[in-house]
Amino acid sequence: MDHYQNILLAIDFSDDGHYVAQKAKYLADQFNARLHIIHVLDNIPMPDTPYGTVISLNEDSSYGLLETEKNKFIQLSDQLDIAPTRRWMVWGEPQQEITRLAAQERIDLIVVGSHGRHGLAVLMGSTAKGVLYQTGCDVLAVHLKGI
Ligand code: AMP
Repeated sequence: MDHYQNILLAIDFSDDGHYVAQKAKYLADQFNARLHIIHVLDNIPMPDTPYGTVISLNEDSSYGLLETEKNKFIQLSDQLDIAPTRRWMVWGEPQQEITRLAAQERIDLIVVGSHGRHGLAVLMGSTAKGVLYQTGCDVLAVHLKGI
């Protein structure tokens, strides 16, 4: 059986995100695998204009939110010792972007939380479930309810 070589951590910075991150780091160390990280920006207002989609930089709240997300992302990536070329912060819809990146980077294991910012579903959060159905690689959903 082949060992995992490329592990992708999907992080949303919800309360239990650090626990998901620790699991991904542990697995990467155990398998001597390359650890990648993705955070999808899906909650910042981006008005459409004739020139395309733009961030409304004149709105302090949007700009501040983006800076905060970016700083948290850099800090966590540094803590996990993830190489800059394996850090991905992208705009879009989380499920789509996570699975797209997994295919692009030949990821063989995606690590997500069972739940996140979208709240509790019956068994798994919407992103975890969606990624599991959409990707061709293994998915570890770190159980978060009640930790
Ligand atoms: P949720 O669908 O909100 O319950 O989230 C479940 C898990 O999907 C989270 O614990 C994260 O691992 C991942 N996830 C959700 N939203 C994002 C996002 N915007 N960027 C990266 N990963 C995410």
